[in-house]
Amino acid sequence: MIYYGRQFVDKNDINAVIKVLKSDYLTQGPLVEKFEEKLKKKLNAKYCTVVSNGTAALHLTALALGWKTGDVILTTPITFVATSNCILYTGAKPVFVDIEEDYYNIDIKKLEKKINQYKNKIKAIIATDFAGHPCDWKSINKIVADKNIVLVNDNCHAFGASIDNNYCYQLKYADIVTQSFHPVKQITTGEGGAILTNNKRLDNTFKILRTHGIKKNFAKKTWHYDMKVLGFNYRLSDMQCALGISQLKKLNIFLEKRKKIAKLYDNFFSNIKFITTPKVKKFYSHAYHLYPLKINFRKFRITKESFFSQLRKRNIILKVHYRPIYLHSFYKKKIKQSHLPVAERFYKDEISLPIYYLLKIKDAEKVVRIIKSVLNIEKK
Ligand SMILES: *Cc1c(COP(=O)(O)O)cnc(C)c1O
Repeated sequence: MIYYGRQFVDKNDINAVIKVLKSDYLTQGPLVEKFEEKLKKKLNAKYCTVVSNGTAALHLTALALGWKTGDVILTTPITFVATSNCILYTGAKPVFVDIEEDYYNIDIKKLEKKINQYKNKIKAIIATDFAGHPCDWKSINKIVADKNIVLVNDNCHAFGASIDNNYCYQLKYADIVTQSFHPVKQITTGEGGAILTNNKRLDNTFKILRTHGIKKNFAKKTWHYDMKVLGFNYRLSDMQCALGISQLKKLNIFLEKRKKIAKLYDNFFSNIKFITTPKVKKFYSHAYHLYPLKINFRKFRITKESFFSQLRKRNIILKVHYRPIYLHSFYKKKIKQSHLPVAERFYKDEISLPIYYLLKIKDAEKVVRIIKSVLNIEKK
């Protein structure tokens, strides 16, 4: 079976976790801070809080920013549901902005329009660097320069991407950055996530909320702790942090392989009519968490359903990233959202090709071959 994504765990990773299992602390030992230090260095952040998953990172972001009913948060419809669910957790309202044609990220002109429409109700923008291609963060940053709008980069796809050769672009433009270490992402801790910021007050809040809202106060009495706010158990364990630290060492080789596979797909598909390969903006680099290929199925006289089932018969299990969030039944009931034509067209055409470190080049070639045969491309 060939899937669209999967983890790579080697001997060093396994040994790092075993070492923790034999140590004094399975959780909240020395490796939590060590992993946070490594992430801070990697992304040039002043502060980092690791948490139990990327969704928890987004939840704590929403809570720390104090969103509430009546607030509007602008976001993209082409992302994982967790990106906008965190808005609903707080009672605030997500307003989806259409994506751009070329890079599938939030459209800057349409974003500006929404800002003018909702004005002071807007508390933040959460944009996702979709598939691993950064948003036009310079423009987003410029638009909000004279406004009271917080910028959140849901960076769960783009660890390792860059703008202007800067691999730490995230916090150059956004106030808060969230990461996920789910097995399909660039590096994994099984489940895991992180929140990065240069704002000390926000980081303090993240750390208190991560552990039940409790602040320890050993100076007073050795048993003393005080619960200050309603928090959660969103901690990441030492076992997971050990895996994360070990995985981080491989980030570059992971990225190189992803780029190599992307190039292979680019070479095969970029000149074929009615197929669109993912573009990379000038001075940007792509982290290729996903390889979103657009196929105009109608032109190939095949339905997307039949295409998927024919690939499945040949042991290739593809996915679609994503169905516009506001089309999910829960969202349909919950919020009114006008149709976003670019996002909906994208959803019709998009498939995510397999891309991950363990994927053999000959398997990527097999994927290409099978797609060509299913679409009948040779005969055109
Ligand atoms: C994976 C992902 C998340 C959620 O991360 P989990 O660790 O699975 O909770 C959030 N946003 C985006 C864009 C993601 O890809």
